[in-house]
Amino acid sequence: MSRSVKVAVIGAGVSGLVAARELTRERHNVVVFEKNTRLGGTWLYTPETDSDPLSLDPNRNKVHSSLYPSLRTNLPRQLMEFLDYPFCRDIERVDPRTFPSHEEVLRFLQEFGDEFGINELTRFETEVVKVERVEDEGGWVVESRASHGGGVSVSREVFDAVVVCSGHNVAPRVAEVCGIEKWRGFQMHSHNYRVPQPFQGQVVILIGYGPTSFDISREIGLVAKEVHVSVRLNPARKGMKFQDFGNVRFHPVIKCINEDCLVVFEDGVTINADSIIHCTGYKNELPFLETDGVVTVDENRVGPLYKHVFPPTLAPCLSFIGLTELESVFPVAELQGKWVARVLSGKMVLPSEEEMMKSIEEHYQFMQQNGLPKRFTHYLGPSYSQVCIYTHFTLVFNPP
Ligand code: FAD
Repeated sequence: MSRSVKVAVIGAGVSGLVAARELTRERHNVVVFEKNTRLGGTWLYTPETDSDPLSLDPNRNKVHSSLYPSLRTNLPRQLMEFLDYPFCRDIERVDPRTFPSHEEVLRFLQEFGDEFGINELTRFETEVVKVERVEDEGGWVVESRASHGGGVSVSREVFDAVVVCSGHNVAPRVAEVCGIEKWRGFQMHSHNYRVPQPFQGQVVILIGYGPTSFDISREIGLVAKEVHVSVRLNPARKGMKFQDFGNVRFHPVIKCINEDCLVVFEDGVTINADSIIHCTGYKNELPFLETDGVVTVDENRVGPLYKHVFPPTLAPCLSFIGLTELESVFPVAELQGKWVARVLSGKMVLPSEEEMMKSIEEHYQFMQQNGLPKRFTHYLGPSYSQVCIYTHFTLVFNPP
């Protein structure tokens, strides 16, 4: 016998869209809450930026997406599709290049949303401000604030289950640099980078060298006088050297900003720069979630979560989709969505609370023994395929 429950999905990005589809396939009653005007999450480009370029002011006007107009994906489109909904459905329309533009990804997501009726399930411009378990109301209370046509209305509704799909590239993380308070030049986080023109003729320092910094260094390099990239190599890659190219040079980490406002790198090189861009990633934040400390965010570790999805003591009525990193979120979120939908309908059973806690503790212990910081908790990396295989087989052996 299959059970149908009333589920709130928070967020209509990749994770929320595919979660909503899987939940409706299992005949649950789904409401998606999305604070933006359209679906797409990160892939919904906006030329607007946070009102504080460093994104530190808690009262700033915030934008969700960090995309810049020139962004092409860092994964081939074949990895950015769902298992049963390929990116290349219409070969005529596909850009022959392997890495699609962000517009193409958004188009793909919007077509997915149209095909599976997700727009009809979604309350747009509606931000969830509080999620709380209320025993005597028999479920989870979701408080939301809708802003339509200039007016704001607040509502409170009870759900049997809540699936959090609010994204993990949310709150920009800024590098801690000794003496940075003395810095009189311009500073921003890459979340607020859109175009290179403001850096024309400047000496620019980028902190961090992930995919965004890689893109920005090349783009700014075309207009800036010099670009200096500060790279922190993990100990296993010590001795590795990045090849300077054009006016882009690589340095180790910044030691400090000195009295003369020069940037001093660990190897003693000093640079007189105009701007610093922090390409230092994001923090997980769940400002709406109230669980009396059952689920916490500690240095980007959202936990305790069984297989990154279920908090043992609140499962299956609270779950998280799309927290994992260093993989393609598309198929992972799809498998997580199937799992959550089937556990909620009673077709699949989770291990006992104790077994789930044991599995989480083993994971934490493994990380500690291998010197991995907490912020790597949701990195799949090489274990990506194991997670896919685990979830896939669990689903195969528990068919709908
Ligand atoms: P998001 O896309 O962040 O969506 C979350 C949604 O939740 C948003 O629509 C947001 O408005 C909504 N929301 C949040 N809080 C609330 C609330 N309280 N109430 C209501 N709604 C809420 N991944 C790749 O696979 N390939 C790439 O090339 C790639 N490039 C990237 C480049 C950049 C610059 C960034 C930042 C990320 C990139 N990613 C890439 C990762 C990207 O985050 C994922 O592809 C994907 O967008 C994650 O989807 P998500 O649904 O989990 O989160």
